[in-house]
Amino acid sequence: MKSANEEHASTSEPVIKVEGLRKSFGSHVVLKDIDFTVMPGEVVTIIGASGSGKSTLLRCINLLEIPDAGHVWFHGKDLAAQHVDVNKLREKIGMVFQGFNLFNNMNVLDNCTLAPVTLKKMDKAEAESVAMGHLRSVGLEEFAKADVNTLSGGQKQRVAIARALCMRPDLMLFDEPTSALDPEIVGEVLGVMRDLAKDGMTMVVVTHEMDFAKNVSDKVVFMDQGVIAEEGSPKQMFTSPKHPRTREFLSRYL
Ligand code: ADP
Ligand code: MG
Repeated sequence: MKSANEEHASTSEPVIKVEGLRKSFGSHVVLKDIDFTVMPGEVVTIIGASGSGKSTLLRCINLLEIPDAGHVWFHGKDLAAQHVDVNKLREKIGMVFQGFNLFNNMNVLDNCTLAPVTLKKMDKAEAESVAMGHLRSVGLEEFAKADVNTLSGGQKQRVAIARALCMRPDLMLFDEPTSALDPEIVGEVLGVMRDLAKDGMTMVVVTHEMDFAKNVSDKVVFMDQGVIAEEGSPKQMFTSPKHPRTREFLSRYL
């Protein structure tokens, strides 16, 4: 049993802490000096114009990109440290992309059980039972045996979310999860994400869905040309943004 103090200490430690993060592609400096913290259970949305570095920041958080400088700590472990098993840590970080990235030659259930069985060595029957639970929570239980190719975009993205959850992540990263969807089905994916947030999942969400940022997130981060120009509560960001670039950006959504 942990003491109350230890319990408290472990819950007040950031899930992700980024400090002094820099990343360039050739001579193009894409992330200039990023400090960024996500606490347990927090939902952080990242907004900003195309090209401002949002995806690169997410990709540095799970080391799909290697930073040029700075640190990324995940539960206090420096991801750049030599002895850290990046693959093991990455299993605890779920990622959902704009383009779904499902295995199109497999059915829905096999998409969900592949990583738990191969990476986590989970028993197939247990992996299937976990997957069915997540498919139920995203409203796709009856599609378990369906071919991925037969699904709509919204259904594919809900499968992608369920699949990520099957790895029991501590953190979920979403990179414009609804940008490839027809407007009328954006809501079904945002609904699933809202449920996940309500369940206490720690989430970082790059999005242009300002209603989601406003109503679901705890913190809004505005990126502009490789820096975090401003961050704050949704209320502060949407009612009294301080930075002129934030004001200009948000005015496009009014
Ligand atoms: P956002 O997600 O905010 O649209 P990105 O992080 O995707 O921005 O990109 C930021 C900048 O970095 C863009 O100018 C983009 O062209 C550039 N960039 C991103 N990835 C690469 C890459 N792998 N190679 C070269 N340039 C890249
Ligand atoms: Mg992007």
